[in-house]
Amino acid sequence: MAQVHEFKPGPEFAAAADREDPLAGFRERFLIPQLPEGGDAVYFTGNSLGLQPKTAREYINAELDDWARLGVEGHIHARHPWLPYHEFVTESLARVVGAKPIEVVAMNSLTVNLHLLMVSFYRPTAERHKIVIERGAFPSDRYAVESQLKFHGFGGPADTGTPNLVELSPREGESTLCTEDVLDLIDREGDSIALIMLGGVNYYTGQACDMAAITEAGHRKGCVVGFDLAHAAGNLELNLHGWDVDFAAWCSYKYLNAGPGGIAGIFVHERHANSFDLPRFAGWWGHDKQSRFQMGPEFVPLAGAEGWQLSNPPIFQLAALRSSLEIFDEATMPALRGKSVKLTGYLEFLLNQVDSDRVSIITPTDANERGCQLSIRVKNADKRLFEEITQFGVFADWREPDVIRVAPVPLYNSFEDVNRFALIFSNCLETESA
Ligand SMILES: *Cc1c(COP(=O)(O)O)cnc(C)c1O
Repeated sequence: MAQVHEFKPGPEFAAAADREDPLAGFRERFLIPQLPEGGDAVYFTGNSLGLQPKTAREYINAELDDWARLGVEGHIHARHPWLPYHEFVTESLARVVGAKPIEVVAMNSLTVNLHLLMVSFYRPTAERHKIVIERGAFPSDRYAVESQLKFHGFGGPADTGTPNLVELSPREGESTLCTEDVLDLIDREGDSIALIMLGGVNYYTGQACDMAAITEAGHRKGCVVGFDLAHAAGNLELNLHGWDVDFAAWCSYKYLNAGPGGIAGIFVHERHANSFDLPRFAGWWGHDKQSRFQMGPEFVPLAGAEGWQLSNPPIFQLAALRSSLEIFDEATMPALRGKSVKLTGYLEFLLNQVDSDRVSIITPTDANERGCQLSIRVKNADKRLFEEITQFGVFADWREPDVIRVAPVPLYNSFEDVNRFALIFSNCLETESA
């Protein structure tokens, strides 16, 4: 159950909440974009690109130095040897998503990983071949599943669209999905569904789906259930192992602060760790470590998620990810989530005080149904409002036709940030309406 918090308007409340915040010190560990006139910007786009940990540069420099000093020998003799480098982040990644180390690995980028995982986990048959996603899923996910359907010959002709793609929609007049409807659909159509693949948190609405209930409902009907956790990893407390999710994938440049294009992560449930009969696209980094360098012709996959690796990984990207995950280990997800519920609750409270009937929040009000992001719909708004708040030092983002997304991130955002944002937002709204 989410805790109930009492909020008050005004800078005093924000200052007191920051003073009492046991995680407040973590802000110092990140580089916050500066305003032209000096001072920190209000950075609410950690859902798009997380901020740079101050240690990221040092960790990447260490690898540049070892490369300069050792050349190829860095694979073995670097201070953090490159050969097993991806293993240095495995345990932390597992903690972030609620998994066992054998179930996760850092590799590639997100959309690539979705495809690789669907090669193994989307196994359509004549009777069971549908894929369920949410309508309004992130475009890359839609492109990925649609192309998988076509690849397997279930795409349907151009004039019928993609009948085997089932898109979950909100009820008439609503903006977010109703879990009951999702479970009902699975119950009704489950026998023809091969794969359910939803966003753990929808990028547009900020709605978190009930991953445990959906997984259970899917499994009851014999469906495979996977999640795209791009907006959930590092944002929600996850329990992928306990929820019995089949697979998941996420990027690490959003809440996981690994930098632009950062190396992504996958989860494959332990149940599938030794499922070597699953079809998979193979590469040498997924091959058994003992015999990898014997360079034999036969692929012997590693057990667990590591067996899905293809290539030797980008060390600089892993170094950046390592710098961030160390901070997650110190802060811990339960504590971060505790602060997040309060921080976003405070933002919601202040937005509800804004004296305008043009403003509504499309993100669910129940803290259990969202992460840190709020998606604010402004009736009749055009992009000018957004540009104006940007002028006042706010990083937010604008989604057509009328939504401003803001994500106060518990690792580096403060209650003062939230208060400043609310003030700037309501002032800009007033001048715009005037
Ligand atoms: C951010 C995001 C992506 C981005 O995909 P990349 O392969 O990392 O470029 C994909 N899906 C979702 C749901 C996202 O939020």
